[in-house]
Amino acid sequence: MDERRAGIESPIQPQTKQRRCLKYFLKIGARFFSLFSSLLTLLSVSRQRIKTTRHSDIFEQSSSPCSPRRVMPTIKPDRVQGTFNKIILHHTATPREPRYGVEWCRRLHVDHNGWLDIGYHFYIEHDGEIKEGRPLHMNGAHTKGENRQGIGIAYCGGIVHGEPSCTMTEEQARSIKLCVDHLRELLGKPLPMYGHRDFKATFCPGFDVEDYDWVNLRWLK
Ligand SMILES: [Zn+2]
Repeated sequence: MDERRAGIESPIQPQTKQRRCLKYFLKIGARFFSLFSSLLTLLSVSRQRIKTTRHSDIFEQSSSPCSPRRVMPTIKPDRVQGTFNKIILHHTATPREPRYGVEWCRRLHVDHNGWLDIGYHFYIEHDGEIKEGRPLHMNGAHTKGENRQGIGIAYCGGIVHGEPSCTMTEEQARSIKLCVDHLRELLGKPLPMYGHRDFKATFCPGFDVEDYDWVNLRWLK
């Protein structure tokens, strides 16, 4: 029996060894694969964390009320013309892009129109930054018949794909509110808000200004 067993078992033994070896290598391979995939997951999570941190940092800076973008230019009250009794809002009738900034507008009004300076007193850039335009001791040049009474504020935008559109962002609206609040306090007058379209048949500034609550910054209708 021993010989027979030995005779039967002896050719099977190498096959069993091979199988065991194969199983062993498969086990090692599977463990290696699982370790590798865990490492990849760990790397991608840490990358996402870095991305999220950076994004939230930028977001907080741009939306913060202390952002340097929303700083009101210094105005000396004795250098403000006494005839102003209202604020008139305009848009630039351009796409809301950085290239249509205050200096672009100043060149257009001085070089092309032949005016003394930019027509608006304040300019709200595409990202909400407030820029000084024409000094407040001078009449503006923005609304025919109202330039002696109206302080002109323009925001960059108003056109999308060549078509008129209201493109004012929340950042820009908040900057306009800051301007309005500051001017009302400085001049000690209620300074009601109007849009260019209240005095002329025009799309400017892209919406009805009277529908906007400029004290609480929200739409009324
Ligand atoms: Zn206008």
